[in-house]
Amino acid sequence: MNSRIPGFYTEDRSERLSTVVERCDLDAEAVDALDADGAVGETVDGLSENVVGSVSYPLSVATNFVVDGEDLLVPMAVEESSVVAAASKGALLARPGGGFTTDTDGPYMIGQVQVADVSDPTAARQRVLARADEIAAVANDQGVLVSHGGGCEDVTVRVVDTPAGETVVVHLLVDVRDAMGANAVNTMCEAVAPVVADATGGRVSLRVLSNLADCRLARARCRVEPAALVEDEDDPERADGLDGETVRDRIVEAWAFAAGDPYRAATHNKGIMNAVDALAVATCNDWRALEAGAHAYAAREGYGPLTTYEVGADGDLVCRIELPVQAGTVGGATAVHPAGRAAMEVLGVEAADEFAGVVAALGLAENLASLRALVDEGIQAGHMKLHAENVARQAGAPAGLVAEVAARMVAEGAVRESRARELIEVLG
Ligand code: NAD
Repeated sequence: MNSRIPGFYTEDRSERLSTVVERCDLDAEAVDALDADGAVGETVDGLSENVVGSVSYPLSVATNFVVDGEDLLVPMAVEESSVVAAASKGALLARPGGGFTTDTDGPYMIGQVQVADVSDPTAARQRVLARADEIAAVANDQGVLVSHGGGCEDVTVRVVDTPAGETVVVHLLVDVRDAMGANAVNTMCEAVAPVVADATGGRVSLRVLSNLADCRLARARCRVEPAALVEDEDDPERADGLDGETVRDRIVEAWAFAAGDPYRAATHNKGIMNAVDALAVATCNDWRALEAGAHAYAAREGYGPLTTYEVGADGDLVCRIELPVQAGTVGGATAVHPAGRAAMEVLGVEAADEFAGVVAALGLAENLASLRALVDEGIQAGHMKLHAENVARQAGAPAGLVAEVAARMVAEGAVRESRARELIEVLG
């Protein structure tokens, strides 16, 4: 197979698909699977390069959410089982206490203009600051955000020590309103580069936004009574389960574990991002930007958890999250992909700030439910049903048999493809 395909990007989607079919010797089933999206095909073709088909994710809706007093259905696109169930469960736990309250810093992104070869960085910094208004005005001349009430609001300068020596970095603080803002900020960074070069006397190098969006933080809080943390109190199999106070204290202990150990914190935060990314994917937001921002923020004082848990004065579990949310309700792919737009309609949120609050609440709900399960029955019990159904499908179970084969494997404690095949024989 030769991967050199001159002009591949100039072909239309069906030609590209034919080329790949031929080179990779794909059968008809694989072609149908790649080309299944029909009407959406043209849209996705325009979103990326060298497109040959599309991949569908399950689009789910997480229930039970009350965010700042409003009931919401949260669209989530994710291929991992239990993520949506955990989000819905976390929201249910928070509901009796009024759900989630949120607040955000405002939609501020940072653009960076890096200047190399500056002979006196400290003096150059002063010269840039003296021309801050002029730089902001040039940035705002681009017009993309000003017409929506946003724009460059501040110019700051850092002198950064790097392995290649000191470098001067000019930051544009930009109110991006309801956009994610990367394109808009990048345009501004490129526009101001000549003024920055003139002010510093150096060589402008990189001109691009920072994904450490620490001026765009979103926070959510909720509280849960200990009694609500007891899983299935009426289930006789859980009669010897933990009481609410113990579950609450162990959740705080689990948070402390993440606060003290980056090996644990990485998984703790991965769980949060399971939900955050699922909402981002559903609404065609840039989940890589959210990921980069969240982990960079988590690492600001040594890598730690994005959530905190403590016992309140009244004995309730008090849960909090804080993370940067660089996501928009307009622009980018959100504006183009019909399913992304429809998911936004399901959520019913218009301002990026409000969206950021939902993102924070969702991440907290996911984390709360995961920790509750981890400190109590463990997470495999919840995972197993859906996992077993996937194993049954992989083993070739017809749709009508999937649930039965899965249930039997779970009951037997033998969730594996070989057992699924045997059960399909017996039950089929
Ligand atoms: P964009 O280029 O579509 O700009 C936003 C558009 O929305 C502008 O044209 C603006 O005029 C318009 N708009 C309409 N109503 C608005 C409102 N109320 N508030 C703000 N703008 C409004 O998109 P963007 O948000 O600038 O950039 C997002 C895209 O950039 C994403 O697709 C992302 O993947 C991509 N990107 C990301 C990075 C990164 O994260 N490092 C780098 C480059 C590009």
